[in-house]
Amino acid sequence: MNKLLYEIIREELCDVVGEDGVDTSEAGRFCYGADYSWVSRAWVDRGMAPPLPDYVVLPHSTEEVSRVLKIANHYKVPVVPYAGGTGVNGGILALYGGIMLDLKRMKRLLRIDEKSLTVTAEAGINGEFLERELNLKGLTLGHYPASGYCATLGGYLAARGSGTLSTKYGKAEERVVAMEGVLPTGEIVRTLPVPRHATGPDFLNFFIGSEGTLGVITEVTMMVDPLPEVRDFQGFLFKSLADGIEAGRRIMTERLRPCVIRLYDPPSTIRFIQKVLGIQVEGSFMVVGCDGKKDMVTLEMKEIGKICKALGGEDRGRKPGETWWEERYKFYFPPFCPDLPELFGTMDSVTTYDRIIPLYEAKKKTIEEGFKDFGARYTAHFSHWFPWGTMIYDRFFVEKPPQDPREAIQLHNRIWAAAIRAALAEGGVVNEHHGIGQKLGYFMPEQLGSAWPVLVSLKKMLDPNNIMNPGKMGL
Ligand SMILES: Cc1cc2nc3c(=O)[nH]c(=O)nc-3n(C[C@H](O)[C@H](O)[C@H](O)COP(=O)(O)OP(=O)(O)OC[C@H]3O[C@@H](n4cnc5c(N)ncnc54)[C@H](O)[C@@H]3O)c2cc1C
Repeated sequence: MNKLLYEIIREELCDVVGEDGVDTSEAGRFCYGADYSWVSRAWVDRGMAPPLPDYVVLPHSTEEVSRVLKIANHYKVPVVPYAGGTGVNGGILALYGGIMLDLKRMKRLLRIDEKSLTVTAEAGINGEFLERELNLKGLTLGHYPASGYCATLGGYLAARGSGTLSTKYGKAEERVVAMEGVLPTGEIVRTLPVPRHATGPDFLNFFIGSEGTLGVITEVTMMVDPLPEVRDFQGFLFKSLADGIEAGRRIMTERLRPCVIRLYDPPSTIRFIQKVLGIQVEGSFMVVGCDGKKDMVTLEMKEIGKICKALGGEDRGRKPGETWWEERYKFYFPPFCPDLPELFGTMDSVTTYDRIIPLYEAKKKTIEEGFKDFGARYTAHFSHWFPWGTMIYDRFFVEKPPQDPREAIQLHNRIWAAAIRAALAEGGVVNEHHGIGQKLGYFMPEQLGSAWPVLVSLKKMLDPNNIMNPGKMGL
């Protein structure tokens, strides 16, 4: 971009959000050069220049977002929505420069409706802050992602997140009542006031999971729940992973309502439960929890216990379950979280119960045998359960990756590609709750097949100048 045009655009952006709402300093822009994706962090870690936006823009309101998008359209400048920056697939990388639209100033909690049990807030509100405000009123959002301290409400929905208790409370998208967003061309649009109706398709649902490629989510009304009277946990140890999965399947298909089932495969039982939490178990460890009214919880935990024991699950009592709940974020912080220079990736997928074990075995084999020469290791746990299937949260690790950034990224991509194709072949999906971002975009045509051109047409219609988060989701 020539210098004069650069200045003209800067002036127009300042006219909308004020001088202090536009940062063009090198240091300011550098902060947006990486998210939590391994590739972006390794790139910076190895001394390479990250992709930087030309402008960091911090709007205060939906109207300002709308005006910024109109300017961006006029000059055909890319816009990347940025929220908490906790995405793990490079969704916020400014690959083509342009405007980094940081939504964190849009953080107002607008309304808590204690009668209908809903909360309305601006999309940039911090998830943990929102949860604490709700807790003061005896309420909870029911969405507890491990990244909640940094991620935002809009980010939860843009990336279709799942919280720790999603088995009962649903994925973030299932808790949406209504939404406001700005289309790529700057129009402000709203969904109907309620999510269930027969008033045409829910066309604005396309904002959910669109990762900033189809517009900007600016305001959301979510369901909330009363804080539970009690929340109980129990640990079970299974001799085989298959027995544990069958126990989870029965719990869900018998329509019990646990808030959490987390089943670790034998390697992750050792890596996480034994080494991090100090619980001395070997095999497939499961934590099950129920919450709500005390009598209901007692009954459901009893029924769940019967199912687990019938499948050979050894009852390890409440203590390991409670320890797991209290220390559940420990896995995500140093020294226990995977970190550079180790090469790693979280490749969650989801499928139906009849296919989940073949999917697990195929991915494990793909990683451990296909990348044996690099010493690749594989762990998995199963943490979000549905009446029809379960998700697999699996990771690969290579302790000593190549030092050269290009070689390291090449290896990272090769492992991912092999694992994703193994998942797709077994009826899985590219991702369950971490989104697609830049990293996984090129799998979208493979995943969607003949439906892919429909998404491309939608993108072209809504975003004729291709300004919204270009290069993401394969678009
Ligand atoms: C340690 C760690 C643990 C994690 N644990 C979980 C977990 O338990 N569950 C889970 O679901 N995820 C988890 N994640 C992934 C990540 O936190 C989620 O994807 C989160 O929802 C992203 O929110 P964010 O506000 O940080 O979004 P960002 O990372 O800033 O953005 C993510 C994508 O959404 C787009 N976007 C953000 N806000 C908007 C908006 N308002 N309108 C349009 N597009 C937007 C961005 O352009 C980008 O493409 C974890 C990540 C880390 C680092």
